[in-house]
Amino acid sequence: MIDDLPPVQGDLPVSGNWDAAARIARLLEVVQRFASLDFSDVAQVGVTGDDLDALAAGVNMLGEELEGWSADFQERVEQRTAQLTAASERLEVEVAERVRTEEQLAESNTVLSDTVGHLRRLNHQIVQLTEMSNLLQAAGDRDEACEVVARFAPDVLSGADGAIYVSASPRTTVELVRSWGSHQGYSPSIDDDGCVALRQGGIHHGRDDAHDRCSHHPGEALGETLCIPLTAQGEVLGLLNLQWERDPSPSTAASLDLSDQLAEGQGQRLALAAAEQLALTLANLALRCELRTQAIRDALTGLYNRRFLDETLARELHRAERDDLPVSVLMLDIDRFKDFNDAYGHVAGDTVLAEVGQVLLDNIRSGDIACRYGGEEFAVIMTGADEVEATARAGQIRSSMALHAFPGEGQPAGHLTVSIGIATRPQHGTDPDGLLRAADAALYRAKDAGRNRVATATD
Ligand code: GH3
Ligand code: MG
Ligand code: MG
Repeated sequence: MIDDLPPVQGDLPVSGNWDAAARIARLLEVVQRFASLDFSDVAQVGVTGDDLDALAAGVNMLGEELEGWSADFQERVEQRTAQLTAASERLEVEVAERVRTEEQLAESNTVLSDTVGHLRRLNHQIVQLTEMSNLLQAAGDRDEACEVVARFAPDVLSGADGAIYVSASPRTTVELVRSWGSHQGYSPSIDDDGCVALRQGGIHHGRDDAHDRCSHHPGEALGETLCIPLTAQGEVLGLLNLQWERDPSPSTAASLDLSDQLAEGQGQRLALAAAEQLALTLANLALRCELRTQAIRDALTGLYNRRFLDETLARELHRAERDDLPVSVLMLDIDRFKDFNDAYGHVAGDTVLAEVGQVLLDNIRSGDIACRYGGEEFAVIMTGADEVEATARAGQIRSSMALHAFPGEGQPAGHLTVSIGIATRPQHGTDPDGLLRAADAALYRAKDAGRNRVATATD
């Protein structure tokens, strides 16, 4: 810029050419400093008041003005820089915050989608558990109930393999009824010594790292196990065994296995709920069976009761009519049983009645139906047996009874005889009442004829 200054025009003062040149050089130096915004020095203004002094004064004025502008400019630049720095810092904070928020959002999103997947899966398991429970209620017997659990367990219990054991009655061991999954070779029966859960009466979680799996679980591979006693009303009715191998790959909500769910307590609750449903079903089935037995069996002899006889005889006669088959009915009465009771008492009499029932069972075919008709009277329904066959069977029963040593105080008082009346469909009647009446009449004829004998309705 200084280089652009126009050269000094006109003559320099004669009196001091060299002085003037030095002053001009000095002036130029000052102007150059001003040009580089250095205001530490000013042009010297002489006292002569010549043109160079005026120029120096002008340069100084310009310098002052320039310094003022420069300071003002500097200040504005600093202000603007400060504003920009502040804005930039704010922006940086905002960007960092936004990045953090986005990270948190992504994290929450993962947790949320994991939770949703997890809940969806849990919901599916609970739906399956409910379905299983409904089907269990409809199960007609123990095997059907175990089948239902085996079918639903892989879904309800996250793919665990397993087996169901049911107690023999009275319980000494539990017996294998059903297993599912890839593992083979479950122990066919387990006693209390063979299972921690049975011994301690509570759930047992065997972990591969703790080496505390019960030995009845099959397979060499390491895995985790759950043994859950099936209990209802304080009674152990069986055992539910579960077994699974931990998936080494990190699990997601969708692939959450039983061990993950166990760690969260849900797996155990699901397994316990399934075991509870099965135990309740087994208890109900046992109760139903017990009630049915009570409804159709005579408590003293264990034979069918009269009600069952009436139902069965009607059914058998219908069937026989359809298939054109004979049906024979035997009515059997202990001879002079009153005397036996009088001699040995009712307790001994009861024992004898139970034993008569057993001798009767020992002498009929498995398809025949023996009942206690009432008191010391018994009846046998023989489907398909005609009068000849029934007479032969009745003779066998009569002689077996006569030969049997009943418990009594000494012999021959322990010997009892029976009289038997026989009626056969169709010749002696085709309906239950008619046939029973005919057999009863034949029985009384056997009594009248001297007891310890067989009479048919034809006689
Ligand atoms: P009969 O040869 O004519 O049949 O003589 P009976 O003595 O057997 O016949 P009766 O009808 O006179 O007596 C039947 C006896 O059976 C009377 C009763 O004490 C006995 N009895 C009936 N039910 C039971 C029972 O549940 N327990 C016992 N101990 N005795 C019974
Ligand atoms: Mg009688
Ligand atoms: Mg009698």
